[in-house]
Amino acid sequence: MDENPYVLAIIRAAWSFVIFVGLVWMCAIAAWMWVARAWWKLRVWWTLGGVTTLDRTLGGNCVICQERMEAGSKVRTLCCGHVFHKPCDNGMDIDMWLRENKLSCPVCRENKLS
Ligand SMILES: [Zn+2]
Ligand SMILES: [Zn+2]
Repeated sequence: MDENPYVLAIIRAAWSFVIFVGLVWMCAIAAWMWVARAWWKLRVWWTLGGVTTLDRTLGGNCVICQERMEAGSKVRTLCCGHVFHKPCDNGMDIDMWLRENKLSCPVCRENKLS
């Protein structure tokens, strides 16, 4: 039984096309995820002023992990004045909270950050 060379060529071209589209699609998704992450980081950095190191132990506990805010720990200070570990010891992170809650502070829920 002879295979029709035209059919074979079309199948081969179709496969190349599918693989090509798949690769382009994967690259597009990867690029989009990278851009989204970069945009988020930039937005947090702009609105929240980055991460600082505490020079003294604060009175209140971090509301995310309930641990003390010891001097020397890395913290993120929101523009409402509330301070959180960056990151917390229990695997939580103020950035995770902010991402899920549209940049609203977990203590005062003020959404003036966005
Ligand atoms: Zn904490
Ligand atoms: Zn606050």
